[in-house]
Amino acid sequence: LEDMLAVIKPDTQHKGIISEIRGRGFTISRLKDTVLSREMAEEFYREHRDKPFFSQLINHGLFLRSGPCTMMVLTKDNMLEEWRASMGPTDPSEARQAAPGSLRACFAKEILETAVHGSSNTQHTHQKIQFLFRDISTE
Ligand code: ATP
Ligand code: MG
Repeated sequence: LEDMLAVIKPDTQHKGIISEIRGRGFTISRLKDTVLSREMAEEFYREHRDKPFFSQLINHGLFLRSGPCTMMVLTKDNMLEEWRASMGPTDPSEARQAAPGSLRACFAKEILETAVHGSSNTQHTHQKIQFLFRDISTE
């Protein structure tokens, strides 16, 4: 079993996505709602800081900061691939074409409002869990 850090972005809160995620066989082992500040959003997506879309990603309609994000540690066999497949392609219009049953096909609006996030490797998983859950002791 592998852990991964996944995020439900603000606009997707009330659409039954949590039961959808459980129904797909993911175990939610930690869960916390957090409203991100701009600084936290920048830190969270720091690996994209040199990309041309970085500023848009952080500031677009204040989307990422428009309400609580649900931060989750998910656990499953073959977790990275399974969650990627479950999310579908980054661009929701591509997701609706290529992966109609995916979470992004169902819940995402456009490329800057992608409904869900998943950390892309184990290093990012550990960094983001440390960053997002640092105020909660696990001892
Ligand atoms: P995430 O990291 O959020 O799970 P992802 O791994 O599918 O998404 P990344 O390449 O890591 O895709 O991009 C991070 C976020 O940046 C995406 O969720 C999307 O909102 C935004 N993004 C990615 N590519 C572009 C682009 N070409 N133009 C605008 N925004 C983009
Ligand atoms: Mg990514």
